[in-house]
Amino acid sequence: MPRRQTGHGRADGAGAMTRLAAHDILFTPMQIGPKTAKNRFYQVPHCNGGGYRDPSAVVEMRRTKAEGGWGVIFTEQTEIHPSSEITPFIEQHLWDDRDLPALARMAEAMKSHGALAGIQLAYSGINGPNLYSREVPLAVTGGPILTFTSDPVQARTMDRQDIADLRRWFRNAFRRSQQAGFDLVCLYGAHGFGILQHFLSRATNHRNDEYGGSLENRGRFLREVVEDAREVTKGELAVSLRMSLHEAGTFGFSNAELRDFIEMHGKLPDIWDLAQGTWEACSGTSRFKPEGAQEDLVRGIKALTPRPVVGVGRFTSPDAMVRQIKAGILDFIGAARPSIADPFLPLKVEEGRYDDIRECIGCNICVSGDMTGAISRCTQNTAFMEEWRKGWHPDRARQKGDSDSVLIVGAGPTGLEAALQAARRGYRVTLAEAGTVLGGRVARERGLPGLSAWGRVADYRTGQMAVMPNVDIYRDSRLAAADLLEMGADHIAIATGAQWRRDAVARLHLHPIPTDPAMPIYTPDDLMAGTTPEGLRVTLYDDDHFYMGSVLAELLVAKGCKVDFITPAVKVAEWTDNTLEQGTIMRRLLEIGVDIHLSKAPEAIGAKEVTLGCTWTGRQSALPAEAVVMVTSRIPDDALFHAARALDWQGAGIRSLNLIGDAAAPGPIAWATYAGRAWAEALDAEDRGDTLHFRREIADLLPEARITP
Ligand code: ADP
Ligand code: SF4
Repeated sequence: MPRRQTGHGRADGAGAMTRLAAHDILFTPMQIGPKTAKNRFYQVPHCNGGGYRDPSAVVEMRRTKAEGGWGVIFTEQTEIHPSSEITPFIEQHLWDDRDLPALARMAEAMKSHGALAGIQLAYSGINGPNLYSREVPLAVTGGPILTFTSDPVQARTMDRQDIADLRRWFRNAFRRSQQAGFDLVCLYGAHGFGILQHFLSRATNHRNDEYGGSLENRGRFLREVVEDAREVTKGELAVSLRMSLHEAGTFGFSNAELRDFIEMHGKLPDIWDLAQGTWEACSGTSRFKPEGAQEDLVRGIKALTPRPVVGVGRFTSPDAMVRQIKAGILDFIGAARPSIADPFLPLKVEEGRYDDIRECIGCNICVSGDMTGAISRCTQNTAFMEEWRKGWHPDRARQKGDSDSVLIVGAGPTGLEAALQAARRGYRVTLAEAGTVLGGRVARERGLPGLSAWGRVADYRTGQMAVMPNVDIYRDSRLAAADLLEMGADHIAIATGAQWRRDAVARLHLHPIPTDPAMPIYTPDDLMAGTTPEGLRVTLYDDDHFYMGSVLAELLVAKGCKVDFITPAVKVAEWTDNTLEQGTIMRRLLEIGVDIHLSKAPEAIGAKEVTLGCTWTGRQSALPAEAVVMVTSRIPDDALFHAARALDWQGAGIRSLNLIGDAAAPGPIAWATYAGRAWAEALDAEDRGDTLHFRREIADLLPEARITP
């Protein structure tokens, strides 16, 4: 198959790709204490919403990273003792030897292609509410538990005995980590989550004993634990310190203090792993944070220590990675999300297959899986966390079944993913799109403020299909039901998307509200099509609660409008708590002068004003408005499907006719790409009836709990 040749990478005489010599540095091995990493690709610890509940799903997810060429691969946060756990978030446990089999499988999977296997050990202190274990939380300095969920629980200040106990629990964890087969242990002291950061930070350490006060004293516990790690593992395991780059606030562990600490203890760990202060700050979305955004906080730290330094920055560009290394900023390129979106990123760079890199779009849907206690999913990598459950692979597809051709109508995220996956399986694919541009909603949304990276959803898939001889893509081709029957395809997927509603119907209002036709009303589709509201004073009603409302508020302000943002929720864009964006969105809207009306909803729309109702008291107020923008819910575009289903499609030789993606049930883009993949995977699959369509693990009963049925 001919390979497309663009930009980077050179094809040799036989058509194989070779990488640019400038990228060689990414493949030079480097020592981390007693271990040697084969390259500079370092998958930093990341959650996945599966954790201890879905051990095999996590193991196979990590195995794909090993296969994809990462030099170092880490587990997510692993809780070392039940006196500190962060239920409802599902991470790993290393509470006793019974946790070893799952973690040993993890280490084995990570090492299967020559990567170093790392385990991140966490004790959450002031961050662990212990809702499951019911233990009294122990903290460097007692006080209310500091979590996303404001749990009404306080932690007790640790006394000397508690500190000795904690050292012993860490020692147990080091011994078990070694027993499980890990090469590295990472001590978690970043994102506000790990007790090592709580010791270091004057915000969370108010002690006046030898563990508090001076930086020397605040670092004492850290030094003791690192010494313990070396002693217990006989120096055979490498020790990584995951430190906070900058904790904000008057008493926070600032970047300056971090530099002082590293200067004082340059040789303490075998590698410094530098991450931002809070998780929200560290894992910012592409809407608010560009690639490599932490550079200023990291620059110069390498000069303070003889040990290697790893840092993150949502790196997907090999040029940006090389620049960081050549400039002496980083030794290893840390990645969580880029490794989720493309577990094969290192191998693709190594082989010069640059066009095949599936770049992270920085949407944080993966994070939302952890935040909601669900298993994580990825907008770009539809196989993420389905490697074991469903046997999906990020890049490889199962051989096709006995039918040959498929027709997909609509080239949005659903249709593009469906087409790509079906083509990879070997089907002859026809993709018909009504418009001139491929990408559907992402083709429109990528033009909104801050969302340009989302276009990668379309670019990756169209780029891949451009070189596949078994794919025909037709633009400007709005198909009608009768057309479908004439195309001669064995299987048809209708992926025609959805339209935003104009009548306020969503969660609060389940029926349209009274509206004076004199008031101009716009939807996100209108604004994305380039329409500018007639009036300058705009009421924006958000009963969607995700990103669209605040993005459009930014767009309207940029167009010179005065925006009143109305939401029935108690905060703006409340679902974006799950993508770690809510605080940043609130700040942005306030900074650009948007007037925010919380716990309010329009009850009626007049010609020149909107009647707002308080969602708690029902009290009404009038808000002058010249235009209204409705960000509420979407209506599936399913007319084509229903029209086709009314025809004799089976008689025309069509084996299956399905409605998929937003056209079936509108949702985030990740739901759309997943729907496309699921459809392509199901082609010619055996009918499994009511049997469960994915694998899962069920906790094994202890012998004494078993009864014979
Ligand atoms: P999804 O997120 O499910 O992929 P989108 O709304 O992003 O949905 O994409 C749907 C795509 O389907 C749009 O690009 C739209 O132009 C296209 N489309 C809608 N109706 C037809 C039709 N009858 N024939 C061909 N394409 C269609
Ligand atoms: Fe990147 Fe979004 Fe995938 Fe997370 S879900 S890895 S942010 S593309």
